[in-house]
Amino acid sequence: MVKFTPAYTQTYWVTLAHGKSVCVVAESLAEIVEAVKPGIVVEIKSLPYPAMPRAGKLSECPPFCTIPNTCAGHTSCPARPSCSE
Ligand SMILES: [Zn+2]
Repeated sequence: MVKFTPAYTQTYWVTLAHGKSVCVVAESLAEIVEAVKPGIVVEIKSLPYPAMPRAGKLSECPPFCTIPNTCAGHTSCPARPSCSE
């Protein structure tokens, strides 16, 4: 099973079995798995802000993170200046 740690932002950068990654806003692991079907979840990292591309339900927050591969796994944007600025 993939490691899933609930993020404060409920926003995740999800890596799929075929190598693609998508941003998913969800409240649970089950919701993430459902959002990326038929993709197979390989890895889940938290994102400080939503990013593109997205799967599943949309949040009201616009896609701030422009380099999600760098920002994934952080609770705030490590980019300088941060993606939201
Ligand atoms: Zn960012």
